[in-house]
Amino acid sequence: MIRFDSRKVNARFHNPLEGGKLVNAELEYRRDPLLGHISILSDGLAGKREILFPKTDEEYITRCIKETMSNCFLCDDRWKKTTPRYPDDLIPGGRLIKGDCVLFPNLFPVASYHAVIMVGKEHYRRLSAFSPDLVNDALQLAFSFIKRVFEKDQTRKYWTINANYLAPAGASLVHPHFQLLGDEIPSTHHERLLFATKKFYDSNGENFWKALVSTEKDLGLRYVLEKQGCHVLTAFSPMGTNEVLVVWPEIRSFLDFGNAEILIMAEAISMTLGFYEHLGFSTFNFACFSPSLGSNENWGSCIMRIVCRQNMVPDHRTDDYYLQKLLQNEIAIYSPENLASIFKAFVGIDS
Ligand SMILES: [Zn+2]
Repeated sequence: MIRFDSRKVNARFHNPLEGGKLVNAELEYRRDPLLGHISILSDGLAGKREILFPKTDEEYITRCIKETMSNCFLCDDRWKKTTPRYPDDLIPGGRLIKGDCVLFPNLFPVASYHAVIMVGKEHYRRLSAFSPDLVNDALQLAFSFIKRVFEKDQTRKYWTINANYLAPAGASLVHPHFQLLGDEIPSTHHERLLFATKKFYDSNGENFWKALVSTEKDLGLRYVLEKQGCHVLTAFSPMGTNEVLVVWPEIRSFLDFGNAEILIMAEAISMTLGFYEHLGFSTFNFACFSPSLGSNENWGSCIMRIVCRQNMVPDHRTDDYYLQKLLQNEIAIYSPENLASIFKAFVGIDS
């Protein structure tokens, strides 16, 4: 049984923007049905969007591209000389290549296996230019690497597929790239996810993610679409701006992704990034989580969170302030229901 808990509260103050009138700003607190993290919705925040997320500055992007392209260690095949290589006993030749995508080790790893995937030859691409074919090539490398490592080292059971795009999202280079992390210890959030999902199964006798997509599909408020077991929806209590959840309730781990599933994942990512551009956003983070490889437990499913970050503007204000970083609450600019409705219109589905 999925519980969507929320509570409405008021904030009273004299508003100078309304001639000093005493106003009651209505807020809604929402609790995530699995992990309990809280997000805050309010019409006032939606009205503040231009201040919180100023419009992308296209001239600034053009300037950034110009300033960084000549020094980019990936552009113009420079990756062939500049990027590190894995030992030949793991990857003969040191790197994995598919189409215009290349996988190589991160020079500054934060996990035993921390691979970077160059996503295409273009130094910069708009969010709508992450085509399904391109993302598919990058993901093919990701899954191939994960399977290859796990065959050799079964202690590395915890894997995520991640991305930062552009500086406001934490990327240290403009050139599009994804990142893989694999180790014997999961990340904090990964561990919380697995623990809570197992606990839900033990208490309710059903897989949380299966129950979630089924409930959300019935409600129709935040559910966007399904393609062959891959469900796309907006998060009831988002952890980041415009959070889109991609859920594979029946896929027990990354080891079970075949070519068909990888292509659908690529389509889901490409579609969501195109949607973000449609909303006027220009950066993103994503993380895709797998239950521990080889576990194959009924409570486990693969899921992915995709969020927008601050837009590309000079001297941008970070969107992660004390509220997110230390209080671990998030605010929603679009309500998740409104976000899903715009998303459905974007992909041509009648609400
Ligand atoms: Zn580049």
